[in-house]
Amino acid sequence: MATVTYRLKNGQTLSVVRNDYDITPATEADPAWVFTDKKGHVHTWTSRTWIHYEPDEDVDDWTPYYYCSLCGEHVHPQTRAAQRQFIYSPTLYLLDGESITKEQADALLA
Ligand SMILES: [Zn+2]
Repeated sequence: MATVTYRLKNGQTLSVVRNDYDITPATEADPAWVFTDKKGHVHTWTSRTWIHYEPDEDVDDWTPYYYCSLCGEHVHPQTRAAQRQFIYSPTLYLLDGESITKEQADALLA
């Protein structure tokens, strides 16, 4: 949440309020990731040459993994720190706490 408050010449207070939501995931697919396995099969995030294997939950060793769809070699797709992503909310303009329009706020700040 971000609020910017302006003190106007007539003593009134104009607040511009915007609630932005940070929806950045922890990691994302690294587009630079390239892996060539021992049989020469090239894997990238978009190559569709590898398969995500996820064991049933009742298996003792519940560790998902990825493998080459051609030769079965395990593949380790790389991730990177995610780019910051936000959902931007509408902006509210408050004059001494009362809601006003953007046009009214722009006129007061002009
Ligand atoms: Zn392979």
